[in-house]
Amino acid sequence: MRLVFLGPPGAGKGTIAAKAKDVYGIPHISTGDLFRENIKNETGLGVRVKSILAAGDLVPDEVTIAMVDQRLKEDDAQGGFILDGFPRTIAQADALASMTDLDRVVNFVLDKEAIVRRLSGRRVCKSTGRTYHILYNPPKVEGIDDETGEPLIQRDDDKEEAIRNRLEVYEASTAPLIAYYRDRGLLVDIDASLSPDEVLKAMVDALK
Ligand code: AMP
Repeated sequence: MRLVFLGPPGAGKGTIAAKAKDVYGIPHISTGDLFRENIKNETGLGVRVKSILAAGDLVPDEVTIAMVDQRLKEDDAQGGFILDGFPRTIAQADALASMTDLDRVVNFVLDKEAIVRRLSGRRVCKSTGRTYHILYNPPKVEGIDDETGEPLIQRDDDKEEAIRNRLEVYEASTAPLIAYYRDRGLLVDIDASLSPDEVLKAMVDALK
């Protein structure tokens, strides 16, 4: 199964992808996670993109496309993949079309108020990338990762100013991909306002 997860930031793409990868036995490829890993390891790419991510802007297409092209060539992606957070522009979607065919594009639909509520309550474990929500998906012990015991942090780009910018960037650059993939007969809309397990089930049923 070759899937793209599309939708605004905070719609739960990463949460659902982390569950769906086990359902389908395919890797979860998140461009946001790949960038954050590079930032953490202070690679050349990480140094270059750090301030872009903190502001909630988009990393230039050529940089992002090259990173995904390389990732999709790895062995584990040959039997399928979930692309989470890529493509985010029409240019990226065109580039992806030249790399691989897709089976479906899942569009996670969520209204703006719910998006802001979810992003501002999101907390992450820096070393594993595991995500929580202070109200909807709290850790067992407040502020602590369930498995590693490390403190949870708020992503810089989950702070109010960056959230507003990310929503504007989404509307301007990424939302046009909904029509792009609908026109190509690939789009499946999923109501993302439900709980993660309910969203997962609705998606798995829709993809049958
Ligand atoms: P995410 O974890 O998907 O919300 O991505 C976090 C940040 O990484 C975004 O706000 C962008 O700065 C950057 N990013 C992730 N994916 C892309 C992409 N496909 N194109 C450009 N920038 C991206």
